[in-house]
Amino acid sequence: MVDWKGRIDEYKVKKEQEEEEREDAKKRALKEKEELETQRLLQELGKKFKCHICKIPSKKPYRSPGRNGEKFSDGEIGFWPDTPEGSDQWDKPGDLFKCSNCDKWSCEEHIYKRICMKCAERL
Ligand SMILES: [Zn+2]
Ligand SMILES: [Zn+2]
Repeated sequence: MVDWKGRIDEYKVKKEQEEEEREDAKKRALKEKEELETQRLLQELGKKFKCHICKIPSKKPYRSPGRNGEKFSDGEIGFWPDTPEGSDQWDKPGDLFKCSNCDKWSCEEHIYKRICMKCAERL
């Protein structure tokens, strides 16, 4: 007896698996692309923003606070399910701070109360 129905079952299962694998590969490729893009952006960020005292480059983008809980002008509290923790801002460093005196970027170690070490020496 030829179990032709069984053959179809097998074929369907195989096809589904193949499809899943294809989806996985697509997702992997997309993730890799995103990672590469992040690497590139990080490099650019590091080139653009450095602590002007120790020259340490910025390693993370500024993350804007999420819009969740942000108040509208009329006092309503907003809720955006898509932006639970804000998004990365690649035009600003997240680990460097601008000196309020000389307007230069400083790392956490070289700035205190928004004044950098160099400016502090001249106070
Ligand atoms: Zn520094
Ligand atoms: Zn300064």
